[in-house]
Amino acid sequence: MSHPPVLIRGARVVDGTGAPWFRADVLTAGDRIAAVGPRLDAPDGATVADAAGCYLAPGFIDAHAHDDLVFLRRPDRAEKVAQGVTTVVVGNCSFGLYPRDPAAPPHLRDHFAGLLGTVADDEVFTDFRAYKAAVDGGAINMVSLVGHAALRLAVMGWERRAATAAERDAMAALLAEQLRQGAHGLSLGLVYPPSAWADRAELVRLAEVVAEHGALLAAHIRSYEGGLTASVEEFLDLLKAGGAAGLLSHLQAAGRPYWGSLPRTLERLETARRDGIDVSTDMYPYPAGSSTILQLLPPSAQAGGTDALLARLADAGERTALRRAVEDGDAPNDPGWESKVRLIGWENVRIGGVSEPALRAMEGLSLAEIAAARDEAPFETLAGLVIADRGRTNIVMFQLDEGDLRAVLTHPLHMLGSDGLPREGGRPHPRAFGSFPRYLASMRRECGGPGPEEAVRHMTAVPAQRFGLADRGLVRPGMVADLVLFGDDVADGATFENPTLPPRGITDVLVSGAFVLRAGTPTGARPGRVLTRNGRTQQ
Ligand SMILES: [Zn+2]
Repeated sequence: MSHPPVLIRGARVVDGTGAPWFRADVLTAGDRIAAVGPRLDAPDGATVADAAGCYLAPGFIDAHAHDDLVFLRRPDRAEKVAQGVTTVVVGNCSFGLYPRDPAAPPHLRDHFAGLLGTVADDEVFTDFRAYKAAVDGGAINMVSLVGHAALRLAVMGWERRAATAAERDAMAALLAEQLRQGAHGLSLGLVYPPSAWADRAELVRLAEVVAEHGALLAAHIRSYEGGLTASVEEFLDLLKAGGAAGLLSHLQAAGRPYWGSLPRTLERLETARRDGIDVSTDMYPYPAGSSTILQLLPPSAQAGGTDALLARLADAGERTALRRAVEDGDAPNDPGWESKVRLIGWENVRIGGVSEPALRAMEGLSLAEIAAARDEAPFETLAGLVIADRGRTNIVMFQLDEGDLRAVLTHPLHMLGSDGLPREGGRPHPRAFGSFPRYLASMRRECGGPGPEEAVRHMTAVPAQRFGLADRGLVRPGMVADLVLFGDDVADGATFENPTLPPRGITDVLVSGAFVLRAGTPTGARPGRVLTRNGRTQQ
């Protein structure tokens, strides 16, 4: 790849380590940082950017996102570039677009829609290699985890049961193949079927495969509500038994009865580390979550897939049983499951995005508001919507405590992950559009520090280390020139009411030494790569 060298003059360099900023020039050559120092000379043909008064940091790494489909459809990744993000980790919470059994029905289509968007048949791939070939060459870089749901569906379909020894072997082999091809690890989604139906034997077996390859095990754990403590223990046990490094996804305590418990949870992660368990965590800077609408129903409702779910909701007896589960928490088929709406209330569940255009009027309204307007019970609104949209609806849930959030976001084990669910239209959660500038702005308020050094560390060096990106995450000679320039006025624009408003204060973004954002305008350059798990960038 040949683009001219870039000399960035006079920036306050925030190098990613957390060290105080220092004023320096930074020179790139090809895709690398060639020099960092005072008063560097501009080589012939160099692009010179005056950065006096600006901060220069390593490009931000989004440690947790659901952009699997968006990378295919919108390779410019405009909303990420606008935030200074140069690398995004996809394949989280068990959801991903590979591997797939070519002979099996396209299970992923509806099932993943609430998180990823509705998937076309040709947007599901046999393996990492095929997916990589389809998404390589966008504006920014991608790191991809293997989704446990996709892996299990490829081997077992929609079976709601423990895997047999032969099925465990088949999953282990299929996972090993993806990791050999360059996937960075495995993600679990222990509240989401079919990942939720795995037993310990299956999870330990897969964790061992992850460990053998020096890869990462990320987990959306079984409960972030009343079962949080037990679910953290389950994940730590898995990491210990399997020997893998772990990332506890979007650490939070959801629902008012459990608010205030996160400092204790963070202490537990610290004691686990003292015992040699290599675990850390990610979280986004908002007090609301977002997910598929199917999370409001007990997992057993999804046994057999979408058609089986819709048939259950259409059956009077089964619908009554599901209503009891959701309204009263009475779910005999799902021991340990806690009804989300019982915990947070219908008024705190807002429709983010639907897939059926005829349902658009519901976007931005809470289930309580829609039910009141229709003069029906909120459960009937929920059931009707799941049927009409085939479960492909995305919701926003107001459920977290600001104090808990602060405890996680400022903790040394934390890295920033947007958990963004970018959708076409609708009223999505703003985290896909504002997480990084919001974190920069809020960390300065929370920590009272003079500069952005600590926030930048959580968005660069910490995730780069976690995902084994040995040549990214720092401003140093020899590192890949993924860089971002921003001003003191950096802040998010996206809100829950206007979730796609752009941030301000981020002016220039380089990926592999090429500008993808220059003076606030996207350049159209496509230097991004799917990064493979070998510590160095494969070109
Ligand atoms: Zn998740």
